[in-house]
Amino acid sequence: MRPLLTLMALLAVTALPAQAEVVTVAAARVLEVETGTLLREQVLTIDGGKITGMAARRPGEAVTHDLGDVTLLPGLIDAHVHLIGSEGLRPDQALFESAPRAAISGVANARKTLAAGFTTVRDLGARDFADVALRDAIAAGSVQGPRMLVATSSLSSTGGHGDLNSIPGDIRVLRYSAVADGSEEIRRKVRENVKYGADWIKILATGGTMSAGTDPNMADYTEQELRAAVEAAREKNRDVAVHAHGTEGIKRAVRAGVRSVEHCSMLDDEAIRLIRERGAFAVPNPFTSQYMVERGSAAGYTDYQLAKAKWVLGFKLESLRKAIKAGLLVAYGTDSGVQEHGLNARQFAMFVDAGMSPLAAIQSATVVNARMLRMEGKVGTLKPGAYADLLAVRGNPLENVRALETPAWIMKEGRVFQ
Ligand SMILES: [Zn+2]
Repeated sequence: MRPLLTLMALLAVTALPAQAEVVTVAAARVLEVETGTLLREQVLTIDGGKITGMAARRPGEAVTHDLGDVTLLPGLIDAHVHLIGSEGLRPDQALFESAPRAAISGVANARKTLAAGFTTVRDLGARDFADVALRDAIAAGSVQGPRMLVATSSLSSTGGHGDLNSIPGDIRVLRYSAVADGSEEIRRKVRENVKYGADWIKILATGGTMSAGTDPNMADYTEQELRAAVEAAREKNRDVAVHAHGTEGIKRAVRAGVRSVEHCSMLDDEAIRLIRERGAFAVPNPFTSQYMVERGSAAGYTDYQLAKAKWVLGFKLESLRKAIKAGLLVAYGTDSGVQEHGLNARQFAMFVDAGMSPLAAIQSATVVNARMLRMEGKVGTLKPGAYADLLAVRGNPLENVRALETPAWIMKEGRVFQ
């Protein structure tokens, strides 16, 4: 085994294209996302795929990429996507789409996401460990896409958001979410996910809008079960992201020690206090529900999905306003996959409408997400040492955050994205 492994390790290293040459990028404006400072006429220096410095452009200075009248900022981070599978995630999708087909969709979806200016994503739930394969293919340079952190199979209770509730009980479907009940089963699923490549653990603490027969307001795991997931994950140096719409599910998960609360749809004062006290991150995704309500059944959503999306949208908008007002750490995640990929930047305007400044909205997808993912200094910043993940937009996103919706130029790890 050993010689084979050594050979494989060697191939993995040599498969990476060399990128030793120094690259320079000039822009009329550079946005320092930490402070909101807009620097004029700067040159960024990149070596080996990483940023090494930035300085004012000298008169007549030649550069590799002269971008002209654009605003340059760090590549964006989406902390909640589902790249694997066709768009419009059905709970019973696995019955109609093979795992290889879902993975091939993932390749196309990864490209769309990078084209939208998102250079890092956290993928929160995929079947058959296809997200691990996609992450590794992107990292090896054989597929174009954002840098991925992956959660593999979401943990669901029996009858919960990740279970196949519309399938009769006598029909056996073996491969889908990690359905687990009780602390021991949960620990086992966490360890299994880590064994097969999970960077994060995702657990479904309440019902959801996309699944049959679940109630988004209903808590589907006990606090003890959620705590078992957090403990098992922490033992493996992983964090837990919880899917939670309803207030009780949010509170149980935050008390159990999760790092991020996805959807976060129904916040009351106690939930806000708990999230703040525990230093957890809220990851609201109002864009998904709005998209579903706007596109309706023509986009393939079922009646029950649309009814639940409509119902939850009002709560989501109200909770987002509350979270911003309370100064919670609001991270940027879109749940892309439920809606089509590549629209990831459309949610910024909703954050601004709910009371964030454009700078705070940009920070949610850069510095806040970097901190949540424990990747501070590596992504979401233009400081020396960070990956050369760059996004250029026309105009000034601090004046019009919608400028982020139409990228003019994208670079990931020192390479220009075509
Ligand atoms: Zn999701």
